[in-house]
Amino acid sequence: MTSTISPPQHTTGDDPAAVLAYAREQKQIEEDAAREVMKAAAQWAAMHSAHSLVGPLDSWHETALPLGGEGCPEIAEFAVIEFATALGWSTERGRRYLTQTIEARYRLERCWKQLAAGRLQAWKLGTIAEETICLSLKAAEFVDRHVAPVAHKVGHAQLRRLIAEAKALFDPDQVEADRLAAAETRHVDVRLGDVTIAGTVHIDAELDLADALDLDAALAAGAEQQRLLGSTDSLDVRRAIALGDLARGQTALDLPTEGPKPWTKRQVVLHVHLSEASLRGAGGLGRVEEARGPITTEQIREWCGNPDTTVTVRPVIDLAEHIHVDAYEIPDRLKAQIDLRDHTCAFPRCTRPARRCDHDHRVPHEDGGATCSCNIAPLCRRHHRAKTTGGWTYTSPEPGTYLWHSPFGYLYLRDHTGTTDITPDVTPDDPEP
Ligand SMILES: [Zn+2]
Ligand SMILES: [Zn+2]
Repeated sequence: MTSTISPPQHTTGDDPAAVLAYAREQKQIEEDAAREVMKAAAQWAAMHSAHSLVGPLDSWHETALPLGGEGCPEIAEFAVIEFATALGWSTERGRRYLTQTIEARYRLERCWKQLAAGRLQAWKLGTIAEETICLSLKAAEFVDRHVAPVAHKVGHAQLRRLIAEAKALFDPDQVEADRLAAAETRHVDVRLGDVTIAGTVHIDAELDLADALDLDAALAAGAEQQRLLGSTDSLDVRRAIALGDLARGQTALDLPTEGPKPWTKRQVVLHVHLSEASLRGAGGLGRVEEARGPITTEQIREWCGNPDTTVTVRPVIDLAEHIHVDAYEIPDRLKAQIDLRDHTCAFPRCTRPARRCDHDHRVPHEDGGATCSCNIAPLCRRHHRAKTTGGWTYTSPEPGTYLWHSPFGYLYLRDHTGTTDITPDVTPDDPEP
């Protein structure tokens, strides 16, 4: 896909007022386009209702997904995959967008009219729709009626109050169910999947208030202990270190405690992959299997330098070796090589770890496809199904690189660096450079 960007200098020269006006104008174009995308998404969903399903109802064929709230039409599962991929999104991201769109289109009709009239931004309607999905038809209608006239400026708090009011009016049983369910939303999410290149990880949690207060006090105490011991780190950093100390059941003072420890440390195993050059001290990046993304060699060295760390070196699997067996069954050694080579599901933009994926014979075994390094690819079950019965096909120009053809003829190149949409641009007034 190619894009044309007209340089602002042409229209604005040296005039700051003209630059500002130009930016506003472009922003308006962007918002108009976002509305058009949402309208197209609604149209796409309507074209792919549950009635469009073909094929038997088995676990390999397409199912209908109930994405919006009560009363919304369902959408054919593989239509979500095609739409998401065509717009440059992961299947999950596209599914969320279509959920908001369907909810808005069928249950927030007044708000939808505001969008269609150009008075409401698409992203704003999306956030409103996300909040109303859990409501009954009547409650959603109530919110729609009250929000529509002010939807373009309604804040999150005001929206929340309206939704609470709608629930109390129309879904009193839901209010009690929500109160009980709130306790079930407690969670601690350690986002190992999104580790930063510097080796830090985001943690997100929802705790019972009493537990949260205890945790806050423990972090404050741990941070203070470090300061007293001479740490010059910022309070934020010391609190983060204190949380790690808590996890290891130690405090900065490491006072000897009497009696048995409340619990024993659990062993954490990280599989770290380093190139030979990195091992020899050439710097660079390594990769931790348990987390996506690269880690600096320095960070890995620091972890290994910790006296509590045990380092085990395992035999290297040669990723370039061509492993081939005659049987249909894929040996573990071949699976391990494929997983290390591809890291994730081979479908465009899918991030499911290869270790949790199916291993697909790209060319089916019965059609002469070998059980070998160049014909086995990791596919998560969802995308494996889209390939098996949903019209997606793929080839592999070289091991670890996949060229996907969508049912609608779009082309995506997937390799370890990511996904590129390489569909030739057929717009006549947009010549190839
Ligand atoms: Zn081969
Ligand atoms: Zn996948």
